[in-house]
Amino acid sequence: MFGTHLFPGGTHPHEGPGGKKVNEGNQITDVTAPFRVIIPLSQHIGAPAKAVVKKDDHVLVGQVIGEAGGFVSAPVHATVSGRVEAVRPCMLANGTSCDAVVIENDFKDEWIELHPTDHAETLTADELREIIRNAGIVGMGGATFPTMVKLNPGEGKTIEKLIINGAECEPYLTADHRLMLEEAGRIIDGIHIVMTALNVTEAVIGVENNKKDAIAALQDACRGMDGIHVKELPVRYPQGGEKQLIYAITKRVVPAGGLPLDVGVVVMNVGTVFAVDQAVREGRPLVDRVTTVGGLVNNPGNYRVRIGTPISLLLDACGGVKAETKKILSGGPMMGLAINDLEVPITKGSSGILALGKEAIEPDEGPCIRCGRCVRTCPMKLMPSSMDAYIRKERYEDAEKLGVMNCISCGACTYVCPAKRMLTQSFQSCKRVINLRKKQAAARAKADAEAVAAQQTAANESANDAKKEG
Ligand code: SF4
Ligand code: SF4
Repeated sequence: MFGTHLFPGGTHPHEGPGGKKVNEGNQITDVTAPFRVIIPLSQHIGAPAKAVVKKDDHVLVGQVIGEAGGFVSAPVHATVSGRVEAVRPCMLANGTSCDAVVIENDFKDEWIELHPTDHAETLTADELREIIRNAGIVGMGGATFPTMVKLNPGEGKTIEKLIINGAECEPYLTADHRLMLEEAGRIIDGIHIVMTALNVTEAVIGVENNKKDAIAALQDACRGMDGIHVKELPVRYPQGGEKQLIYAITKRVVPAGGLPLDVGVVVMNVGTVFAVDQAVREGRPLVDRVTTVGGLVNNPGNYRVRIGTPISLLLDACGGVKAETKKILSGGPMMGLAINDLEVPITKGSSGILALGKEAIEPDEGPCIRCGRCVRTCPMKLMPSSMDAYIRKERYEDAEKLGVMNCISCGACTYVCPAKRMLTQSFQSCKRVINLRKKQAAARAKADAEAVAAQQTAANESANDAKKEG
């Protein structure tokens, strides 16, 4: 019934010490909440949340400390009880900064009053969406798109299928694997809730077939249920890319610049639907998440971590890193970001923290030898070597014509390049330049339109004055 459609390109990245094989056997363990959490108000795509607490306020776990700053936004909640030390800027893993609420933990772990329900099945789609919005849930696979927005496809858009992303194709990362294994029933419950909110009758969970135990657990949990299926997928990076997953399961191609909605699909990560279940059935807002801490860490594992935990304190709680560590990454080795400041906190989108050795040091680039490997590997059918050549000459428009804006930053081209060219980084910086230029052009166009409108108003007023005087 469900054939698998291989996406073009892709690769099979290798892992070093402390990779999936080590971590997939480690049960999810709670990390003690730290003495201080730094909770960014911008942990999602869209407008940052607006702080609704101030220095010295006392807060409870689950209390709203930042209200959603717009439709595409999400509220933020206190993740420990205690005193608000400050509302101040903090650094994020991507090198940007935003305001954050810093809370000194009183270690009482006092929660707000939660409102669980044992009749989730009777709630309407509107009621479910409201709960999910208030719980601050965003895409937990790393994309951090506010879940409530995905549940509102908008006028004229029909969703036929819900796809659940359990591929977890990045090397080292096993948080989703463990969640599927340990919480399969709740993931299925969360899928039911999302199906109701979206009014769809079919959901497919895509899991790479190197996680046979998780596939079996999910199949057991949904046995006899209509409309929910588990799909084994071949192991191939980036199988968990949204567009690649949609193609593998439906053979539908999301158009360039388009969204899954355009092909009648909504995609959610397994961690997201688990958080949905917690929000609806327990009334629990999103205050923690499961994160893989791997690589050269003394006690690697899959840890349930309070959002806002500084990475330095998380690594301490995991026994610290080994002496040969050269680099700390937020995320996996293919798409992750190097962290220079270990005060950067865990956020809703933090799927993993990795300590890597000398293999992670970027080697010197050589000249392109035109081997074409990057072209054959690109899952988006782009021409990485040609785009990169343009970008190095600052010919960004030409790179845009070749489709650089469709690059999903999967890192596969950089990984296979024998000349060790920093292709993905080149495309990321090019996209930033193009986006900035577009923003500047839009601002100029808006200012010009306002100036023309002001001139028109002044001309009308002076014509009216002239009429009155006449
Ligand atoms: S990083 Fe971009 S260009 Fe490189 S393989 Fe991935 S999608 Fe293609
Ligand atoms: S893989 Fe590297 S060396 Fe080969 S064509 Fe692409 S950029 Fe050039």
